Amino acid sequence: MTWLLVILASLLRLPLPVIADGGPAGEAGPGGGIVIPLSPSAGGAEDGPLPSVTPARGADPPLVVIDPGHGGRDPGASSPVADIREKDVTLALARAMRDALARSGRVRVALTRDEDVYLGLPDRYAVARRLGADLFISVHADAAPANDQARGATIYTLSEVASDREAAALAARENEADLIGGARLSPDPDVNLILIDLAQRESMDVSAEFARLLHREASPVFPFRPDWHRFAAFIVLKAPDIPSILFESGYLTNAVDAEYVRSETGREQIAEGMRRAIEAHFARRFLPGR
Ligand SMILES: [Zn+2]
Repeated sequence: MTWLLVILASLLRLPLPVIADGGPAGEAGPGGGIVIPLSPSAGGAEDGPLPSVTPARGADPPLVVIDPGHGGRDPGASSPVADIREKDVTLALARAMRDALARSGRVRVALTRDEDVYLGLPDRYAVARRLGADLFISVHADAAPANDQARGATIYTLSEVASDREAAALAARENEADLIGGARLSPDPDVNLILIDLAQRESMDVSAEFARLLHREASPVFPFRPDWHRFAAFIVLKAPDIPSILFESGYLTNAVDAEYVRSETGREQIAEGMRRAIEAHFARRFLPGR
């Protein structure tokens, strides 16, 4: 399909498509872009209440949506070395990130969940899309039951081809949280697929750029794995129009990491590293002249 993409993009000189959850295909969007209707199943939670957004200074400050992984009936990974569950670690980390960003006041922040509730994977990015998020960060904690020495944070960005078997296995495990009632992005007209593909490619480039920035800003503050940027097909990263990463904060199966991610010190350091990277990302992208 590559040739078709190239021809379409160059012939139409397509603006980045605006992707909407309704309306006829090809309708002009608010910015003059093309509105791509997504199937009702793509959005999920379309009418539910939206989470609150922290205020920030300046005109039209950017919005980051932070997604604490798992929750409710889905506890995520458990730790054999400490009495902690992934869903609690991710919520505490996400709250610390939100609070650090809110104190600084340069960007607006919302959490997909601020309590112990279950959210389907598409519902998580649907919240980000409904709020008009500029960046989406899904927060997790890793587990490697067969290797209790594995340590450090990892940043995942979307790819249909996993970077290795371990990355593929992790994506399969994280995606399992959505086996019940999982909606998928599945618009039927071919042109929608192509336009979504174009938007997704742009988002994937920006996501990878943010992953590098996060490593640069945060690696002096908290530890990363040696191979810190990896790729896999995570459903939660599939909002086609929002740069998205999945952040594995550390290994619950490693005694040092498990203690670190649940400690106040660890939480504050991880939140601080994330704050620096998010602010640097938006400073870079919203600089005048870019
Ligand atoms: Zn997880």
